[in-house]
Parts: sequence; structure tokens; C-alpha cells
Amino acid sequence: MGLIPYKNEAYLDFSDEKNVAEMQAALKKVGDSLGGEYPLVIGGKRVETDGEVISVNPAKPSEVVGRTGRATEREADMALATATEAFEKWSRTSPEARARIMLRAAAVMRRRRFEFLAWEAYEGGKPWFEADAQVAEAIDFLEYYAREMLRLKDGVEIYAIPGEESRYFYRPMGVGVVIAPWNFPTAILTGMSAAALVAGNTVIMKPSEFTSVIGAKVAEVFEEAGVPEGVFNYLPGYGSEVGDYLVGDARTRFISFTGSMQTGLRINELAAKQTPGQRWIKRVIVEMGGKDAMVIDESADLDSAAVDIVKSAYGYSGQKCSAASRAILHEKIYDEVLEKVVEGARLLKIGAPDSADINVGPVISEPQFEKVSGYINSGNQEGERLLGENPGDGKDGYFVSPTIFAVEEKARVANEEIFGPVLSVVKARDFSDALRIANDSPYGLTGGVYSRNREHLEKARHEFQAGNVYFNRTITGALVGVQPFGGFGMSGTDSKAGGPDYLPLHMLAKTVVERF
Ligand code: NAD
Repeated sequence: MGLIPYKNEAYLDFSDEKNVAEMQAALKKVGDSLGGEYPLVIGGKRVETDGEVISVNPAKPSEVVGRTGRATEREADMALATATEAFEKWSRTSPEARARIMLRAAAVMRRRRFEFLAWEAYEGGKPWFEADAQVAEAIDFLEYYAREMLRLKDGVEIYAIPGEESRYFYRPMGVGVVIAPWNFPTAILTGMSAAALVAGNTVIMKPSEFTSVIGAKVAEVFEEAGVPEGVFNYLPGYGSEVGDYLVGDARTRFISFTGSMQTGLRINELAAKQTPGQRWIKRVIVEMGGKDAMVIDESADLDSAAVDIVKSAYGYSGQKCSAASRAILHEKIYDEVLEKVVEGARLLKIGAPDSADINVGPVISEPQFEKVSGYINSGNQEGERLLGENPGDGKDGYFVSPTIFAVEEKARVANEEIFGPVLSVVKARDFSDALRIANDSPYGLTGGVYSRNREHLEKARHEFQAGNVYFNRTITGALVGVQPFGGFGMSGTDSKAGGPDYLPLHMLAKTVVERF
């Protein structure tokens, strides 16, 4: 297939008035359509349910963004039957044809880009730049996995012995259950689904209950792009109501999950149990949380370090699995860096994402607001709060201002994933001590080092226990195809989304040998 080489989608420039005008028009248009209803889609048919999932605007919780269907075991069963049947034909569809549909989905999403940004603002509470980076990432996943499938469609080279031909190639697996979190509702949902689909599997996609409307929009993109009926099924609902059923069912071939450690481990355990009629060991791809650290040594460019700590800690209100939630500072530069970080974080503008200058939006939901507030209480008792206020009651939006605690390394706020705009700052004696503190976590997702010392960087290159380690830059915003993403330890199965090893996780490798 003739294709231009893969290239990351460029971000929109919101200093350009044209883009601002388009974004405002999209906010108006989407704003006028809030409150719509989105039934399940199974086998191409709209399926009504008794219950509903009500999604609200986190910046204005009284505003309903939309109502989606709420799947029960009955609809999960329908989806599993439909996806199982659709697999027969889709798995025999050529890889090129499957890749073309993903490329078309990328084009559809590009055309609907501002609309998606507006949904992200209303349902996810995302500042414009964050929303845009994420929709660009979704487009990248579609473009990248399409090309990856073309690269792998004939298998890979292996050796043979004289008189024989050996082939090693990939086959689709079966029905995949894709379960997504709310924090990257367009990108993660699109990426996990696209990889599964282009590899020839059928998909039951369960979005997060907090961003189910964006899930419906992603489903529309796949439909418009031409994914056949039954190959992709949209099954919104509560994880607690349909999750176990989908994961445990004998027809499920693999589960692709991104979300919290607690849910990921539960899925891993349940998927390991064989149920009657089950003819395979389910494959489990789980990507989970983090407690990501940035280490700054005494040789670092301290101004840049402070700027990047602020960006990494507070982008999307710290609700990124990759967010810096710990800054570990060498004692010699501790006071200076801390002061710069506090200054930088103080300048961030908080508010509903209805203009380009908002840096920090609300946290996603009432439970999340309560959770983050609870950690701020803990931090108040465990250490010194250098920035931030006690959150209010959340009735006028789930806003939490950027918060900084100076704490000892064992403090709860410095060890548990908070998933909010809360940074814990810890002092280290020297570089080895800093790295030890960074690695003293069950998680291992992202990490960063700011240093001009080559020895320190080389040590961290090998010894920093994280799936994605960044030097002298931010630690968030992994680019598809450029910074494959996935965690060590309790952060996940290290699947490396957006990387060369990702698609084979969704396929069965087969060896066929013929003797002549
Ligand atoms: P969550 O675990 O609460 O929910 C994730 C999804 O799992 C939702 O769709 C939910 O409905 C579903 N679910 C809940 N119970 C289930 C069950 N028993 N069986 C099956 N599915 C079930 O996580 P969240 O709050 O939506 O997302 C935030 C978490 O995701 C954070 O921990 C964050 O670090 C993590 N995350 C990780 C990555 C990564 O790539 N490692 C990326 C984004 C987010």
C-alpha cells in the first residue's frame, strides 16, 4: 500500500485566532447538543436498556452532558454472542482492508477534531491544549497501528533447515474486551480498540462511566469509517455491573484494560480462572497506575527543571498516569528548586475550560474530588503545605487548586497514587539516595531525571525502575511511535502502547514448516 511515512499529528496553535474561533464555535455547537441520549450499539443496532449512565460536566456538575445506555449481563451476553459471530468474517478480512478502515477512522477524527475537543472540555473537564494533545494521540494510534499491521501482515523472517521452508506469522485471536479509564477518553479508547481491530479481532468496548458520551463519539468514528457491524460493539455501563461478566465469560479471548491497579489486578485474577467451555488461556493486557517521580540533582538546569516539574505535575490536574506526583530534590538545591516550583505553580490559571488560557480544570468526578480532598487532609497532617487550599464542597465544580507538600519519603501522600493536582516534595542526600527513593514504590510507570552529570544519567538509564524514563524534560505526553508507553511493577504488563511490540499482543504467532 502506498502511504506517506508515519508522522505525529501536529498540535493546534491556540495563539492563532482562527483556531480559537473554531474552538469557540465547536463549544457552542456541542453545548447546544448536551443532554442527548446514546444507546448501546451491538451488531450495528441501537439497543435500549432499562437503566442509564448519566454523565455530567465536572466543571458544572448540574449540567448533564449526556445519558448513555447502561449494560447489564443480558446486553453483555448479546455483545459476546455478536462479537463471536462477527469474528468469523473479520478475522478473514485482509490486513490491508482492516488497515484502510483505521486510516479512514483517522481521517474522520481529523475532520471532527474541534468537535472532539469540545466534548473533552465538557465531559472530561480538559483544558484546550490537553484535549488537543489527546485527540492528536488518538489519530496517531489509528495511523500507527494501521502501518504496524502492514509491517507484520506477512509475519517476520526466521531461519530454516535445509530442505524445508519455515514461516512465522500472526493470526487474529478472537473477541477482545476493551475497558478504558476516563482520563484519556478519546486516545486510550481509540488506541486500545484500534490495535485489537486492525489485528483482526472483534471488540466489545466498555468506556468509563464518567466519559461514556465520548465513548459513543469514538464508536461513531469507527462506524463512519466502515468497521462492519458486530466487529465493534459499544457497551457503556458500570464496571461493577458488567466487568466481571465480560472478563469471566468463556467467549472472551483477551482483555485490554487501562485503569487503576485495584481493577487491573482483579481482572488479572478473574481472567486466570477457567470457566466451563473455555478453550484458551485468556490473554491479559493491563496498564495501571503510577506514583511517578522526577529526580533533580545538584548539577541540573534548575529553571528548566522547575518549569517541567510544574508541567508534569499539573497538566490535566495531575490526572495522568504519567503525572509527576513526587519531586525528589538533592539537598543542595532543594530550597531553590522548591521556591521556583511554588512560584510556577502559583501562576497556573484554574477554571472551567472555556478559554485557551485555562491551565488547570476540575478533577473528573465527585468520588475523585473526595479522594483528592482526603489526601490533602493527610498531607496537612504529614508535612508542610507550601501551596494550595483546602478544597471546598465541590458543588460549583470539582476544582482543586495546585497543591505542594514538603514531606518525608514515607508520607502517605508521597507513596499512594492520588491522581489529582498534588505534588509531594522529598529531600535526598545525594543522587543514589534520590534514585533509591524514586524506586521505593510498587509502581514503575514513568520517571524523570534532571542532571548535567553523565554518570548520573547513565546510572538512571539502567537503574531507574520505570517503563518510561525521561531525561531533562517533562515526563508526560508520550508520543505514539516515538515514546512507546507502559509500566513496570504494579503499573502494568509493560505492553508499550504505541510501540513495535504492541500489536503482537493482540495476535497469535503461528509457525508453519513444510518439508520439500
Ligand atoms: P478504574 O480502574 O476505576 O476504571 C477503569 C475502567 O475499569 C472503567 O471503565 C471501569 O468501569 C472499569 N471497571 C471497574 N470495575 C471493573 C471490574 N470489576 N471489571 C472490569 N472492569 C471494571 O480506573 P479510572 O479511575 O477510570 O482510571 C484512573 C486510573 O487509570 C489511574 O490509576 C491511572 O493511573 C490509570 N491509568 C493508567 C494508564 C496507563 O497507561 N498505565 C493510563 C491512563 C490511566
